[in-house]
Amino acid sequence: TTIIPFLDENGSSYRYVAIRTEVTAHKKLEAKMEDQVAELARSNDELEQFAYVVTHDLQEPLRAITSFVQLLKKYCNDRLDERANDLIAHAVAGANRMQMLIDDLLTYAQVNSSQAMIEVNCGQLLSNILIDLSIVIDECEATVTHDKLPVVKGIPFQLIQLFTNLINNALKFKRVYPPKVHVGVKENLDEWVFAITDNGIGIEEQYLDRIFRVFQRLHSRKDYSGTGIGLAICKKVVEHHGGRIWVESEPNVGSSFYFSIPK
Ligand code: ADP
Repeated sequence: TTIIPFLDENGSSYRYVAIRTEVTAHKKLEAKMEDQVAELARSNDELEQFAYVVTHDLQEPLRAITSFVQLLKKYCNDRLDERANDLIAHAVAGANRMQMLIDDLLTYAQVNSSQAMIEVNCGQLLSNILIDLSIVIDECEATVTHDKLPVVKGIPFQLIQLFTNLINNALKFKRVYPPKVHVGVKENLDEWVFAITDNGIGIEEQYLDRIFRVFQRLHSRKDYSGTGIGLAICKKVVEHHGGRIWVESEPNVGSSFYFSIPK
């Protein structure tokens, strides 16, 4: 209820207007929305738990398969012909590939908001990542340059995943030797916008959205290794930090992966 008094010259009220609004429906809707948000958060938590437990529990039987196949090879080695050796090698390769998928799915499931946000020095973070990637960088004689990177509020483990995946992809999908990668940053009023730019094979326009979904790959495993989970992890990390991720690319020229982190 809103009441507006009319005052005479002495400041005393001689009349008033009252405006009454019926808010029951509005309040009911508000309560319903709150319930739905809570329910969504609960089912999201449950899904994350499920993904974690399933992937974690899959590792045990997988390890058993790998070691029994290897034992089989060891004990029967002199009795196995070329075809049998070939089949065993395929079984081991399949198990190794499944291990990679499980590792990446576990990382994906572990990206959640339960970890605390702290101040992260991105310059320092990138130096450590480049040390970890030094073998890959040296192997393809890549040049990786970067702007002066800021301190942001974030979850260190998740930001490491984000930068590592994007730089790894920039090196993996190379087109020319030596590949060049630049990690740039631009400051806006309320956010930092990072860009990882490469001179690689590029991506056709119709695939630009699809690549951020789980298991979406544009090439066969023979051409480029990978599980198709890397960019999905990047998207989840950026969204947990309240930012956006997108890509601009030109086939046979290169790609720039952008992501924003709110200040
Ligand atoms: P993965 O690298 O394991 O295949 P990602 O989720 O990291 O999975 O990437 C999905 C797909 O997006 C890749 O298979 C590739 O086709 C494309 N892609 C990602 N990064 C780049 C890049 N820098 N240049 C060209 N294509 C890329």
